[in-house]
Amino acid sequence: MKDKSFKPEKFQKGMDITMTDKGLLIVVSAPAGCGKDTILEYAFNVCNNLHYSVSATTRHIRPGEEEGVHYFFKNREEFQELIKNNELLEHTEYAGNYYGTPKSFIPKMLDAGKDVVMKIEVEGAANIKKLFPECVLVFILPPSFAELERRLLKRGTEDTETIKKRIDIAKIEMSFVKNYDYVIINEKLENAVDDFAAVIRSEKLSVKRGLPQIR
Ligand code: 5GP
Repeated sequence: MKDKSFKPEKFQKGMDITMTDKGLLIVVSAPAGCGKDTILEYAFNVCNNLHYSVSATTRHIRPGEEEGVHYFFKNREEFQELIKNNELLEHTEYAGNYYGTPKSFIPKMLDAGKDVVMKIEVEGAANIKKLFPECVLVFILPPSFAELERRLLKRGTEDTETIKKRIDIAKIEMSFVKNYDYVIINEKLENAVDDFAAVIRSEKLSVKRGLPQIR
């Protein structure tokens, strides 16, 4: 997936512009296999004030993933404890597993002026929008369904049954794109990262967002 010709330094200029003391919350949704992880991996090199909200999940850990970096991996009982103790901002069940956003990280970071990015599915994104109306919703699309299936098979982290389940979910998820502020089509990694950085830059330059400071 890595594009060797990609030069993050090219985009760094101007990413520190800020009109407000509060950080920006960017909510990214994308069907599995759209390349959101790779886009974000590069985006962290480009946007130096960007921090990742790590979710909790009951799904199995994949090769290359680390506890506390990609997810907080829990069993179902531990996850139910988190729900019971009101430690999650939102949670959902997706493809047979629980996923949820820890409560304190996001408000703490935004208040400290740090930008936060989270990767969540469409239902969770709608719930986050209710809790943080000023957040920006970004949807990442694959160039086509055929390409999505090819990427999922190539990734090889799930069995055929799970891949089929994820493609069915993807079809439903794509109908939610109308609720989002921005859409990025991940055909070429470099362009997709550039588009993602452009979204952050334009949001930071938005008069509506910076009005109290401008005044
Ligand atoms: P994956 O198993 O491929 O890492 O994630 C499956 C789906 O769950 C993805 O759409 C991902 O964005 C979503 N997801 C991950 N964390 C959360 C979360 O905390 N809350 C919600 N609602 N969805 C999540």
